[in-house]
Amino acid sequence: MDKKTNLFHLYDEVKACRKCPLYKFAKNPVPGAGSEQASVMFVGEGPGEKEDEQGLPFVGSAGKLLDELLASIDLKREGVYIANVVKHRPPGNRDPKPEEIEACWPYLLEQIKIIQPKLIVCLGRHSLARFLPNVGPISQLHGRAFKRGNQAYMALYHPAVALYNGSYRTTLFEDFKKIPIVLKKIS
Ligand code: URA
Repeated sequence: MDKKTNLFHLYDEVKACRKCPLYKFAKNPVPGAGSEQASVMFVGEGPGEKEDEQGLPFVGSAGKLLDELLASIDLKREGVYIANVVKHRPPGNRDPKPEEIEACWPYLLEQIKIIQPKLIVCLGRHSLARFLPNVGPISQLHGRAFKRGNQAYMALYHPAVALYNGSYRTTLFEDFKKIPIVLKKIS
């Protein structure tokens, strides 16, 4: 089966998922979106209100900033892959619980296995803690790249923290500039 077909199968599984209670409150599953050929995979936290309505990741205000950040390094969302650590919206946009993240983890692993991105960009502390537990806080690690086995990772602030804070915004744009540099190094 090709990557696209495998991803669609996975989306069907996510749609039918009852492994944690989040599906009960959600309007739509938000499995992920983008190119199955992507070299870079961005992983956020979980769907918000707009994402829940549309079934697509990062389509609200944080998503608009993500689009700007991608454009700043000549990338488009169609050329990357975007997913979250949890695939259904936590009610009221609360933080996902550890057991919800755990229940959803196999879907993310499967997405990575299908897409085989060169670089996984962790957006925010939940994503970073899941991929690289115990490395430290995002406030110290943002903008840095890590290698675990054959997989490269980068830690970046979540775009939502930069929406109302100019200095986080500047930092995010600065950190994004490192993505093509890291990609070149690992290619
Ligand atoms: N925040 C996230 O972490 N993911 C989304 O899809 C939207 C906002």
